[in-house]
Amino acid sequence: MDKQNDQSRMDKIVSLAKRRGFIFQSSEIYGGLNGFWDYGPLGVALKRNVKDAWWRDMVAGHDELATLAGAPSPYEMTGLDCTIIMHPQVWKCSGHFDLFHDWMIDCRESKRRYRYDHLHGRWAAHRGKKVFVTTDQSGDEAVPDTVAKAQKFFGLRAKQVDEIEWGGGLESLQAVVAAGVASLADALGPDAAAPGSLTEPREFNLMFETRIGALAGDDDDRAFLRPETAQGIFVNFKNVLDTSRVSVPFGIAQVGKSFRNEITPRNFTFRSREFEQMEIEFFCKPADSAEWYRYWRDRRWKWYLDLGLTAGKLQLREHASDELSHYSVGTADIEYAFPFLAPGEFGELEGIAHRGDFDLRSHMEGKLVRKNGELVVETGPDGKPRHRGSGKDLSYFDDVSRERYVPHVIEPSAGADRGTLAFLCDAYHEDEVPDADGKPRSRTVMKFHPRLAPVKAAILPLVKKDGMPEVAIDLYRALKPHMACQYDEKGAVGRRYARQDEAGTPWCLTIDGQTLADKTVTLRDRDSLVQSRVPVAEVVDLLRDKLA
Ligand code: ATP
Repeated sequence: MDKQNDQSRMDKIVSLAKRRGFIFQSSEIYGGLNGFWDYGPLGVALKRNVKDAWWRDMVAGHDELATLAGAPSPYEMTGLDCTIIMHPQVWKCSGHFDLFHDWMIDCRESKRRYRYDHLHGRWAAHRGKKVFVTTDQSGDEAVPDTVAKAQKFFGLRAKQVDEIEWGGGLESLQAVVAAGVASLADALGPDAAAPGSLTEPREFNLMFETRIGALAGDDDDRAFLRPETAQGIFVNFKNVLDTSRVSVPFGIAQVGKSFRNEITPRNFTFRSREFEQMEIEFFCKPADSAEWYRYWRDRRWKWYLDLGLTAGKLQLREHASDELSHYSVGTADIEYAFPFLAPGEFGELEGIAHRGDFDLRSHMEGKLVRKNGELVVETGPDGKPRHRGSGKDLSYFDDVSRERYVPHVIEPSAGADRGTLAFLCDAYHEDEVPDADGKPRSRTVMKFHPRLAPVKAAILPLVKKDGMPEVAIDLYRALKPHMACQYDEKGAVGRRYARQDEAGTPWCLTIDGQTLADKTVTLRDRDSLVQSRVPVAEVVDLLRDKLA
């Protein structure tokens, strides 16, 4: 599919998400708030199903007595629900306070702000005039955007565009400036009319800051909204060990909100400022950690496939060694080919990182840095730790091997909103179905995996008379305790099917004349469109089995 089709596909998904109540812009009646999104009636059910599937598959339904395929041994799983605001020292020791930033750049002319690493550009010349044209567009839109900007800058008509001389292809502005090939003074900002309006890049910490207490004001009251859920798990490691009788290897899971003051939120919910994460910190013996890393990477990859994401649109990408964080021994990203990306581009759904003993040691000893290949406590000019740790012993005594060690950590860190967006994009299909007269009618259908579908079944009396609604209501009441279902008697049955197809409901149950005679209903399958007769008395068990 070409970029334009993919973009229009994305536009259709965004518009369906709004029209059918999956996702709304936050505070929309006041003009919306950039980077914040609300989930509507169908969206909240979809996202909850994503989170519930994750929790059930990873935690609640985990069989701790079995050795699962690919796992080096059986293991235990447990959970936590930690606060969003934590002791500020947590973020100092974790490194977020000093290091969790992006470089931003402002435009004095347009008053717009950009992420420095998102800007690209190339030299353009016309009749002795030369400018470095920049764009904040990505993928296939970037080059045409620079052409349009150069045309405007040189004051050319469309047919004169070929007169522009280009000095090569698009390059990162950051790289070009660092290499001295162009300066910010030469650069024409993405929304500027004249060059030289871009400011020097500045560091921008992505943590949202707040103040604690009524007398807020001095620096001691400063606190942060968590940018990840993981740290709550590390600082509770000892509490969980001491209270739940778990032993290494084991994992602690958490689902919750995280906040990042992203400079340029974009691509619908993909890059939001408030979002939810589903994270596991898995603690294991250092010697076994490489095997556990591979286990979690493969396990998490399979989870997305099992829930129906198209295999060809998913990619597992191992980070190259120069891409790894200073503490990481190995990281892989699970990525999805979102329709808003250029063909061949993928966006991260989840990162699986081998973090070694970095996190537990940081919270014991203080903020760590890598020096000559070793992790050591970072010291200030006075020789004292730059950010002091808790001093608490977070090591583990292994009863089996009779050794004491600081466990290594494998972290599968997934975004609930990005996952939900991927399921939403992947589910979107347009096809044709025969209408009541057998003529082909185009339909939009959301082919969610039944476990994720917001509504599992719709119960539709063919007409609002002849005792059909009564049978339908009884069936609705029998099903409702077991799964989300809807009763709908309004409009032609074809329109009711169409409404359910757009909501992604896998099964429609129609009560018709034959139901009254032989106590069977029509079960219509959303994807195959096969209609079969099922005894009313068997519907609940049948659908429960399909969902199991
Ligand atoms: P990116 O490089 O896209 O900013 P990241 O590598 O910083 O992501 P992590 O810190 O590894 O992301 O966070 C783990 C997961 O949390 C990501 O895989 C993603 O699913 C989710 N996530 C991170 N930032 C955002 C965001 N701004 N909006 C929505 N989800 C996010």
